[in-house]
Amino acid sequence: MRERLVVGNWKMNGALASNARLLDRLASEWRPSEGRSLAVCVPFPYLGQAQAALASTPIAWGAQDVSANAPGAYTGDVAAGMLVEFGCRYVLVGHSERRQFHGESDADVAAKAKAALGVGIVPIVCVGETLAERDAGTTEAVVMRQLRSVIDALGPELKEIDLAYEPIWAIGTGRTATPSQAQDVHALLRAALAKAGAPDVRILYGGSVKAANAAALFAMPDVDGGLVGGASLDATEFLTIARG
Ligand code: PEP
Repeated sequence: MRERLVVGNWKMNGALASNARLLDRLASEWRPSEGRSLAVCVPFPYLGQAQAALASTPIAWGAQDVSANAPGAYTGDVAAGMLVEFGCRYVLVGHSERRQFHGESDADVAAKAKAALGVGIVPIVCVGETLAERDAGTTEAVVMRQLRSVIDALGPELKEIDLAYEPIWAIGTGRTATPSQAQDVHALLRAALAKAGAPDVRILYGGSVKAANAAALFAMPDVDGGLVGGASLDATEFLTIARG
């Protein structure tokens, strides 16, 4: 039985005062019920704040990127071991905004996932197609190519990751994949994971998830939770999604 996971991706948002209000509300109002868990992935400078606010709660926290390299001369990067010192349970890797704005390749993403697993942090590997790719009928080829490089790099460690399907045309656009569009891609991903010996990897859906659509998405058999961007900045909305 796969436990449902809802993860907030704050992206490059936040400030100490507003973070404190948001984290306080999550900490005081989240009561995990059977089979549901919650996490937030925050910008690097706020990892210490998230750790302090959430350490004695059932809510996990993590980062939004990690270097594939060991500590050294990589100005501006953050090593996996540094995330361990801040108690991170998760790290996003291969978010489409990293692939788009920082030129991360499938091989980079796979190397980052490996670096995270090497220090005991769960990488949430993001895959997803652009609108042009969907319209051209290449969704399956794109997400399979992205997943394949992770499968090949990780081998048996594949079982330890979480996967997020995030169609790029649905991220921050207000245009969500329908539950059946999401399920169709999740089923393909599940089949590939199963073939690679990791049938129980969780597959989260991301892309304009809101309180109004979360329950229908999460009701799909291969949708194991959500990666939530904009809506995770609003405590009421985020908690409603997580309970959905
Ligand atoms: C995301 O950033 O991963 C995301 C899915 O964003 P949004 O929920 O705002 O579409």
